[in-house]
Amino acid sequence: MSEPLQYRSTRGARHAARIEDVIAAGLAPDGGLYVPEALPQLDASDFDPEGSLADTATTLLDPFFRGSSLARELPAICREALDFDVPLRPLAYRDDASVLELFHGPSAAFKDVGARFLAACFRRLRRDAEAPLTILVATSGDTGAAVAAAFHRQPGVRVVILYPDGRVSPRQAHQLGCFGDNVQALRVAGTFDDCQRMVKAALNDAELQQRVPLSSANSISLGRLLPQMSYYAHASLAWWRDHRVPLNFIVPTGNLGNALACVWVRDMGLPVGEIHLACNANATLSDYFDGSPYSPRPAIATLANAMDVGAPSNFERLRWTFPHDHELRLQLHATSVDDDTIRETIVRHARDHGEVFCPHTATAAHLLDSMSVTGLPWAIVSTAHPAKFDSVVEPLIGRQLDVPPALQAMLNRPAHAEPMAASEAALKTWLQQHQKSIDTVTG
Ligand SMILES: *Cc1c(COP(=O)(O)O)cnc(C)c1O
Repeated sequence: MSEPLQYRSTRGARHAARIEDVIAAGLAPDGGLYVPEALPQLDASDFDPEGSLADTATTLLDPFFRGSSLARELPAICREALDFDVPLRPLAYRDDASVLELFHGPSAAFKDVGARFLAACFRRLRRDAEAPLTILVATSGDTGAAVAAAFHRQPGVRVVILYPDGRVSPRQAHQLGCFGDNVQALRVAGTFDDCQRMVKAALNDAELQQRVPLSSANSISLGRLLPQMSYYAHASLAWWRDHRVPLNFIVPTGNLGNALACVWVRDMGLPVGEIHLACNANATLSDYFDGSPYSPRPAIATLANAMDVGAPSNFERLRWTFPHDHELRLQLHATSVDDDTIRETIVRHARDHGEVFCPHTATAAHLLDSMSVTGLPWAIVSTAHPAKFDSVVEPLIGRQLDVPPALQAMLNRPAHAEPMAASEAALKTWLQQHQKSIDTVTG
C-alpha cells in the first residue's frame, strides 16, 4: 500500500498535514489554502463502468483519503453525500451540447455536494468530541442554505449563518431562516464583506474559542472542493465510454471552487477536454486569462449574485499548481458576461428552446451560444435551479416556475432570523450567551 497523501498550505510548504486535520481546519494556520502535495493519477479503466455517482466518487477520492481515519468510511461518506441525481442531459436545440445539472440536491444549488460531504466527514470526526462545535458561515445566499440543510439536526454541531440583511433574494432569505433546531440565522445590518469580517474575527479569537469551539464551512475548505470533482469524473467517464472523446466543460464561476475541481479531474488523467470559465461582470478572471496582470478588485453586484466575487479565493490554488502565467493561461479560457446579456439569454432560451436557466447557468449558455459548432462535445454546467432565483427569472419569462419539492418544503416552513449589528463585538457577545444556554441544556 502506498504512503498516505500529504497536504500543504499554498503559502508555505514546510508543514505537512493529514486529510482529517485539513478537513477539520478549513483554512491552513498560515492563512493559506490546503492543497494535496501531488495529484494522484487515475485511468478510466480504474472505474466501474456500471458504478453510481457515489461509486465513482469513492474510486476517485480513495487516494486522497488512503491511510487516514476516514478511509474505511469513505464509501459510506460518498453514499450519504451524493444521494441525488447529477444528470448529463442532452440539449435538444444543439446536438453537440449537453447540460450537467448539479441542482437536484436539498437546497437546489451545486453547493449541496460539498456541504453534504463535509457534514458526513464531521459526523465521523466529531463522534467522540465532548463540547458541541459551532460552525460559522458568512453567506451571500447559496452557501448558507446548503450548509444549513446538510448539518440540520446533526448532533454535536450547531450552525450559525450570517447574511447581509436585504441583500439576498427573499426566497434565499427564507431558505436561510427556515431550519431552526441547531441552525440559527443572523441578518446582519451590513454587507457580505462585513459578515465575512465578523466570522474571521471570531475564528481568530483564541479567548472566544476557549469557551465556544468554532469552525467554518466556507468554500475554500478542501472538504468541499474534493467531492465536487466526482460529478466531473462521472460525466466525463460516461461520455468517454460512449464516444471515445473527452468532454469539454463551460463552468459558471465566482470563487473558482467548482471550476478548479474540473481542472483537477483533468490533471488526474481523466478524459476532460477544454474548460471555459463563464464569469459575470466581475471580470478579474477574464482579464487575467486575456493577458492582463492578475488584479483582484472589489466585487460588483450582478444578477448572478452567487458569482459576485472580485478576488476569487481559489486562484491561489491554481497559482500554486501553475506558478508561471504562460502555463496557467494555457489551462483555461474565461469570458465575462454582463447583466443585459444574462437577461437576453434567459429570455431567448425560454422562448426559442423551452429551456429555463438560472442567471448563473445563463452565463455558460451564452458562452455556448457564441461558439460555432466545431465538432467538439460541450457540457454547460447548471449550478442552480431557476426557481431559486424566481425574482430575476419569472419577470423575464412571464410565467411562474415549478418549484422542486425539497425547495418547496423549505418555503412552506416558517422562517426566522435574528437582527445583528455589523460588529465583531456583537457576534462575540451573542456566541457567548448562546453557548451558556447550550451548556445548561447538555449539562
Ligand atoms: C457558488 C455558486 C457559483 C460559483 O461557484 P464557485 O465555486 O464560487 O466558482 C455559481 N452558481 C451558483 C448558483 C452558486 O451558488
